[in-house]
Amino acid sequence: MKKMLTYVLFSIAGLGLMALAAIPGKPGGQGQSQPSTQWDIHDLNRPLPPVVDPGPAGPPVPPPSDAVVLFDGKDLSQWTDGKGEPAKWKVESGYMEVVAKTGSIQTRKGFGDCQLHIEWAVPLAAEGESQERGNSGVFLMNTYEVQVLDSYENTTYADGMTAAVYGQYPPLVNACRKPGEWQTYDIIFYRPLFDTDGKVTRPARMTVFHNGILVHDNVTLSGPTAHKARPPYKVHEDKLPLSLQDHGNPVRYRNIWIREL
Ligand code: MG
Repeated sequence: MKKMLTYVLFSIAGLGLMALAAIPGKPGGQGQSQPSTQWDIHDLNRPLPPVVDPGPAGPPVPPPSDAVVLFDGKDLSQWTDGKGEPAKWKVESGYMEVVAKTGSIQTRKGFGDCQLHIEWAVPLAAEGESQERGNSGVFLMNTYEVQVLDSYENTTYADGMTAAVYGQYPPLVNACRKPGEWQTYDIIFYRPLFDTDGKVTRPARMTVFHNGILVHDNVTLSGPTAHKARPPYKVHEDKLPLSLQDHGNPVRYRNIWIREL
């Protein structure tokens, strides 16, 4: 009888979890295990998440004592370009800024499971439309992108807007501040695990806060980031650099720190 009751309770709990996972309009919520198949990749008809005002920007969030500080506003000594040469982005007044066509930059050090804090601002002059306004990106392990974009009164496809896990999950809400204002991402990332044959034994997962607001709740990534595609996982190292994207727009970054988990 007790066994039966336990079974029934577990079944009810299981159904409840399934129902939660199936809630429409919660694209990056409740541990979603795969991107929605209801919409095409970068589908412009996909509904956009609600806008939430995150309140005003605060001062930089101080790094905790066990964090690795990747950028403290002074120099790019911990960063290189894609070829391992010194990063060529501009550094001034405590921030770094994308210099178009110098390429994405990456940390000298590699990371796997981590908690990342990063602050960014898109240009005050809101130029360009859709993907051409304030585009950059935070790539965990040089492979898995959390989109940086200006989605303040700028419409683009839901799975490519600000804070989207690009091409996979739109954010739960649009928590953008106005262009020119500092914004934050706090990302908890678990890397994929592979067995000795290169088979995925644990896909990558992410939880993301944008300006302190939950935008992805432990979502499972389908594989590496790509444009108009969701390619399968490809086996890679346990630790890889964090990279920031040069998408041609002068996006700024400051106060970047990471805690290895
Ligand atoms: Mg991008």
